Amino acid sequence: MRVITDKPEVLAPAGTLEKLKVAIDYGADAVYIGGDAYGLRSRAGNFSFDQMREGVAYAQAHQAKVYVAANIVAHEGDTVGAGEFFRTLREIGISAVIVSDPSLIEIAITEAPGLPVHLSTQASATNYATLNFWQAEGLERVVLAREVGIAEIKEMRRHTDVQIEAFIHGAMCIGYSGRCVLSNHMSMRDANRGGCAQNCRWKYDLFEMSAGGEKQSQLENGEAFSMSAVDMAMIEHIPDLVEAGVNSFKIEGRMKSIHYVSTVANVYRQAVDSYCADPDHYVLKHEWVDELWKVAQREMSTGFYYGTPTADDELFGKRRKRPQYGFVGEVLAYDAAHQVAIVQQRNNFGVGDKIEFYGPHFTHTAQIVERLWDQDNDILYRAPDAMMICKLPVTQPVKAGDMIRKQR
Ligand code: SF4
Repeated sequence: MRVITDKPEVLAPAGTLEKLKVAIDYGADAVYIGGDAYGLRSRAGNFSFDQMREGVAYAQAHQAKVYVAANIVAHEGDTVGAGEFFRTLREIGISAVIVSDPSLIEIAITEAPGLPVHLSTQASATNYATLNFWQAEGLERVVLAREVGIAEIKEMRRHTDVQIEAFIHGAMCIGYSGRCVLSNHMSMRDANRGGCAQNCRWKYDLFEMSAGGEKQSQLENGEAFSMSAVDMAMIEHIPDLVEAGVNSFKIEGRMKSIHYVSTVANVYRQAVDSYCADPDHYVLKHEWVDELWKVAQREMSTGFYYGTPTADDELFGKRRKRPQYGFVGEVLAYDAAHQVAIVQQRNNFGVGDKIEFYGPHFTHTAQIVERLWDQDNDILYRAPDAMMICKLPVTQPVKAGDMIRKQR
């Protein structure tokens, strides 16, 4: 029986220490985070050095890795202190730094030798000669541009042994990744320095001023349009990505919730393990796809992997399917003697709601909330307060770290 021993890594986003731990608990082999400087998510809850230390200790205890994104387009003055920053990452035990700007790559390689460097997707690597160039410069891995196809990845793999990382899930840019200045132009926020205002997702109109000064829409149906791209989801194409030689499967979303991180990491963990254990008898499970829909924000597509998408493929329009679940809490402990879960509320829920517990290794149990108590055992009808601790009887055992979602 064929088995794939060199399994690709499942790489999850972690905007906070809590998300880092959740991502690893739910199956990520590695997480990527941002530091206080040089990263592209200025609003993503970046990590202090102390938080990185705690994150690395947690990751190492679970045989996982932590990468730090330092992928800004560096302007004059931006590289000051970068050598010290990279040396500190190396001392903390960060497994690699993800960089795009050649000046920062040079500093990382020369001033922090031993710290592996990965080329960020922001550098738009789309062919094997580029991959070989960066490998010769000393980089260990290249994160491909989202705009490459599976056939191109296979061609790259034939000509290079540098590690290849590719996005498999999450939001996409409608502009060529890393080369969009819509936000810079319209919001004075630099997308390549962590400030994208998502202007492509705004509503636009095209109008002409009449002689009387009135605006007249020039759109056929008069409806404002958006340039927003749908999201990527490669869950149905894991075999193609593995066989193409991708070493790391990257999930987008350092600003997304623990509900998203736990769900998406959990699903891809299952799919990758299942395929690699027995590729010749692999079967896609529809519950994996359904699970991703529970946290979807937009429709899903395969991006550029199977050819250049058309506007119909790629533009987010009227949602054809809406997520049916909302995140409501996390299990802190389980009282087995009384079959009661002690939970921390994250969104309003209460008696009568249909909820689902899910946990690492893709465990799920659904039930109705029959009763609810607060911490002092006083009866509640709803749990309305953010982060409040409450208790509810459960029909199946649950465990600390399980998440709870509510069916809408
Ligand atoms: S405005 Fe849209 S296309 Fe441009 S960088 Fe931001 S998300 Fe990407």
